[in-house]
Amino acid sequence: MNLVEGLIKQKYLKTLKIISAFRKIKRINFLPEKLKQFAELNNPLPIGYEQTISQPQTIAIMLELLQPKEGDKILDVGSGSGWTTSLLSEIVGKSGKVYGIELIRELKKFGEKNTEKYNFVEKRIAKFICGDGSKGFPEEAPFDKILVSAAADKIPSNLKEQLKINGRLVIPIKNSVFLIIRKSDRFKEEEFFGFSFVPLIIEK
Ligand code: SAM
Repeated sequence: MNLVEGLIKQKYLKTLKIISAFRKIKRINFLPEKLKQFAELNNPLPIGYEQTISQPQTIAIMLELLQPKEGDKILDVGSGSGWTTSLLSEIVGKSGKVYGIELIRELKKFGEKNTEKYNFVEKRIAKFICGDGSKGFPEEAPFDKILVSAAADKIPSNLKEQLKINGRLVIPIKNSVFLIIRKSDRFKEEEFFGFSFVPLIIEK
C-alpha cells in the first residue's frame, strides 16, 4: 500500500478534498534528487539548510485541523519544499490564494521551482515570498487560514491578529500542535500533544 492510501486507512486523512490533493500533489516532486527514492517513507526528510520536508502523517493531521476550503486565502508559513503550499493551492483552486512565506532565500526558490510542475504560480493561485513569516504577512491579511510548519515557543500574536473571524491557525508550539479559531470576541484554542518540528526562527 502506498503512503497516501496508508494515511487514509489509518484515518489521518479523512476529508475528500484533502485526500484528492494528497493523491495529486506527489511528495516525490518536492524532494532533492538524491532523496526521491525515499518519498514514500512516512518520515521527515532533509531539504538542506538544516530544514526538512515534514512527516506526511503530520501534514495530514495539520491539514485536517486547518480544514482548507475552495476559495480560501491562506498563509503558509515556512513553505520549505513547496509541498504544503502546493497541497493548499490544489484545495483552494482558482478562486483562492495561497501565500507561501519562507525565511531562507534558497528554500523559497527551491519550493517555487518544485511547484512549477503544477503551474500554481502561473495560474496566480500561489505566490512565494521570502521573509519572516513569524510576523505573518500584513500586506495581504486577514486570512481564512494560517498554517505554520516550524515550532515556536509561544503563539505569535501577529498571526492570531491576521485571522478573519472564524479563521483557523494551525501552529506547532514546542512539542504540540495548536488549533486556534478566531471568534468575534475571543480565540478558541485546542492543543494536540506529541510532535517534533524544526524551530520557527524569529528575526529581531
Ligand atoms: N511546509 C514545508 C514543506 O512542505 O516542506 C515544511 C518545511 S520545514 C518543516 C519548516 C520551514 O520553516 C523551513 O523551510 C524553515 O526555513 C522555515 N522557517 C523557519 N522559521 C521561519 C520564519 N520565521 N519565517 C518563514 N519561514 C521560516
